[in-house]
Amino acid sequence: MKTLLKNGTVVNADGSRIADVLICNDKIKLIGENIRSDDAAVVDCSGKLLFPGFIDAHTHFDLPFAATTTADDFYTGGRAALRGGTTLVIDFACPNKGESLQYGLDTWHQKADGRTACDYSFHMTIDDWNEGIERELDDMFAAGITSFKMYLTYPAMMLPDGDIYRALKALKKRGGICGFHCENAGIIDARVQELKAEGHRADVYAHPLSRPDYVEAEAVARLLRIAQAADCPVIIVHTTNHAALREIENARRRGQTVYAETCPQYLLLDDSVYYDSDYSRAASFVCAPPIRTKKDADALWRALRIGQIQTISTDHCSFTPEQKEMGRTDFTKIPGGLPGVETRGELIFTAGVARRRMGLSGMCRALSENPAKLYGLFPRKGLIAPGSDADIVVYDPFASHILRSQELLSHAGYTPFEGFRTEGSVSRVFLRGRLAVENGALLGGPEGRYLKRNLCSL
Ligand SMILES: [Zn+2]
Repeated sequence: MKTLLKNGTVVNADGSRIADVLICNDKIKLIGENIRSDDAAVVDCSGKLLFPGFIDAHTHFDLPFAATTTADDFYTGGRAALRGGTTLVIDFACPNKGESLQYGLDTWHQKADGRTACDYSFHMTIDDWNEGIERELDDMFAAGITSFKMYLTYPAMMLPDGDIYRALKALKKRGGICGFHCENAGIIDARVQELKAEGHRADVYAHPLSRPDYVEAEAVARLLRIAQAADCPVIIVHTTNHAALREIENARRRGQTVYAETCPQYLLLDDSVYYDSDYSRAASFVCAPPIRTKKDADALWRALRIGQIQTISTDHCSFTPEQKEMGRTDFTKIPGGLPGVETRGELIFTAGVARRRMGLSGMCRALSENPAKLYGLFPRKGLIAPGSDADIVVYDPFASHILRSQELLSHAGYTPFEGFRTEGSVSRVFLRGRLAVENGALLGGPEGRYLKRNLCSL
């Protein structure tokens, strides 16, 4: 099966050029001018941009929370991802404390295998540390899991500093890498008690007040000192603010390797969303860490431009407005998380490229190339070049549209970007050479594959 994409602008992290792309079966075969192939299906891509398939390295599909589960599972989440140009998601397998890593991995395979429209892989959450878990690390690497996740907050998942140190040393030995959710659990807990005592139990804006920027920055700074002690590279996931960025830069100046991720909600929105007098609207934006100020968003854009932030993922963790009702009388009971896997490409193109905050190559780096390198899939993914998987997003920069939740495939029931006018849209998506999305319609079923990953090459 051959497909010839004619005259598109091929975007890679090192530049863009107008060229033809010949796809043969599931791989990119050739890139050049005036390619002829008599037996190929020809797609005219004049005026369109061709990006390497976007990678979303931070999703939570089918995640149990309190007495409920996220609105999107791998079936709906994978379809939403693919439609938005994301050809690969890396979700967080999440065993509970006391369970083995293998049990967590098996559970996540059961959720995803045979049900996911895009390709997928897993990070492994370490929320417990003992000899058994350490022994299991080798099995995880053998299963293609080279990246992990630890929490400095949430009592059900957080590890004490000593265990984080031990776990990082064990990962370092194996060439692994770990992402961290950084917020100071103790301060948050104390502030929650204060806010409730002051009568803010039913106020959504108490959520951001309970976890200010410096609470995140403190945890980033502490984690980076633990990483210094363990001499292990780390990833700060969902970085939201200027103070946290400064701590990351401090560690880099000491010679540490630190990668940083941010998300569209932190780049495009500001904390005024929490002061909406309509509970349902305000609660729909509750996530942790919370959305910050406009100034923080500006600092994140700048950090992306100068290479201080490497990736933009979504932290897609969707709860419907009905599920968000759980917190109407107590802001700490609002299920935290936003949907986003379906809209990231168009949002970043609009707010980043079209508004001249980043170039096409910068967008490609943050959404495709850097996640592929960081998570051990480059150059198979994250690049339009001969030999790479033919995961290609055909983006029409002139097909603007308004984001409407009713038109999205996600089962979240809302989008934080309702009414947002995009510059352009995803018009076609190829997944390993197969046309999988055309004009917003999904073609084909859950044909995503599980990917084993190599070590980080960023
Ligand atoms: Zn997350």
